[in-house]
Amino acid sequence: METYEAFVKMSAAAEKDGVKLTIISATRNFDSQKGIWENKWEGRTMVEGKDLTTIADKKERARLILLYSSMPSTSRHHWGTDMDLNSLDNEYFTSGEGLKIYSWLTAHGAEYGFCQPYTSKVNGRTGYEEEKWHWSYLPLSGVFLEEYKKQVTYSDINGFAGSDVAKPMDVIKRYVEGVACKR
Ligand SMILES: [Zn+2]
Repeated sequence: METYEAFVKMSAAAEKDGVKLTIISATRNFDSQKGIWENKWEGRTMVEGKDLTTIADKKERARLILLYSSMPSTSRHHWGTDMDLNSLDNEYFTSGEGLKIYSWLTAHGAEYGFCQPYTSKVNGRTGYEEEKWHWSYLPLSGVFLEEYKKQVTYSDINGFAGSDVAKPMDVIKRYVEGVACKR
């Protein structure tokens, strides 16, 4: 598969520079994302230290999950083009080995087609918080994003707890389209 082949090339080049890239999570289907989402929605996984079932306002519940996790059917991990590398903690990438990895990716990732979609929000990007671990293979994901915008509507986002807040929260505009990597 094209994304994986590109990753293998990038990873070999990184290794030559003494940087080891490890995939933590890549493709996740709807059911797998539904599991992650509903564990948070129904209080089995804590979010920001909170049991979300104690929050009555559904939009607020969703907002907290959406800091770092996508609604099922809106995740770039469904596309087969995106992957999480080395650590799911931004702090890890600010010093030592983690900083070395992040610096290498920001300097060389683009040579292999990879881009960090969830960058800092200081310049007004909407959507998820920064994720220094999440990298996307833009030659494919750029096309998929364009197709998503054309083909997917809020009537397609259903089949999980809390799906009714997708439209009032405008998740397609704010989250799916809230990325730094665009063609
Ligand atoms: Zn990710």
